[in-house]
Amino acid sequence: MPQPKNKKQAEYYEILFPIHKHQWLRTYKKFINKISSFKARYRLDNIKTLFKENYGSECPYCGCVLNVNNMSLDHITPIARNGNNIEENVQVTCKVCNRRKGRLTDKEYRELLKLIGGFEKQARQYILAKLSGKDYGSK
Ligand SMILES: [Zn+2]
Repeated sequence: MPQPKNKKQAEYYEILFPIHKHQWLRTYKKFINKISSFKARYRLDNIKTLFKENYGSECPYCGCVLNVNNMSLDHITPIARNGNNIEENVQVTCKVCNRRKGRLTDKEYRELLKLIGGFEKQARQYILAKLSGKDYGSK
């Protein structure tokens, strides 16, 4: 099993090893790439911390476990709605929820989830699929 080679790897090893075991080094490389791509786009100082802190925790909306493949950076108040590109306005969510949330604010999206939570399963799934931009059940 690969061991961390330096301090930087050791920092991530602690987070990644319990979840990914022998795959941790592969995941580490993916994770570093992911974080650097966000750094280039967002120019935020603590993107790294934000992603590290949320790794393996639950998506604030759907509760799925956040990992290198599904993590995304969401604006609590979207840029399109005059939200800021600052640390206080970003959160880590899964990609699916980020796509569904779209131009809604955190508050609006939570209200919507609460509302459709009372719908019949089929109606709820239909709305969620529409929000993701999927053409659900169109056959
Ligand atoms: Zn989610």
